[in-house]
Amino acid sequence: MIGSPESDVREMFRRSGYTLTSQRRAVLDALQDFKGHPSAEEVYLAVKKKNPKVALGTVYQALSVLEEIGLIEAKRWSESPVRYDLNTEPHYDIRCTRCGKVAEIPGLKFDDFAARIRENTPYKVTNTSLVIEGHCPVCQMED
Ligand SMILES: [Zn+2]
Repeated sequence: MIGSPESDVREMFRRSGYTLTSQRRAVLDALQDFKGHPSAEEVYLAVKKKNPKVALGTVYQALSVLEEIGLIEAKRWSESPVRYDLNTEPHYDIRCTRCGKVAEIPGLKFDDFAARIRENTPYKVTNTSLVIEGHCPVCQMED
């Protein structure tokens, strides 16, 4: 699932105590239009197209509120600015370390991963942060 329905967005804002301001809405819309894993800078440039007066700091603040509320996820790969993902369902993304392209990995289930950890350790998993990097098909051709 990419993004949350409007009712969920309103509910998540209401529960968090934050207000769904027009700026936060504009940032969320830009993320929805992006269909990828943009950096704050890329989100800022997209918001700026419709709203030329927006400041980069405002976009950063909106992104951090959206992350705190749980409407977006921040992904932190090495050698890359933080990237934002509207897909907050547990899933894995891989990032090409040469061109920076990010793709979701199909067929790798978070539930299987969590079950394996339960089988092999006495821990209950409450959070994961898994960074997967590689070379995309285009960059492999340059090997
Ligand atoms: Zn690549």
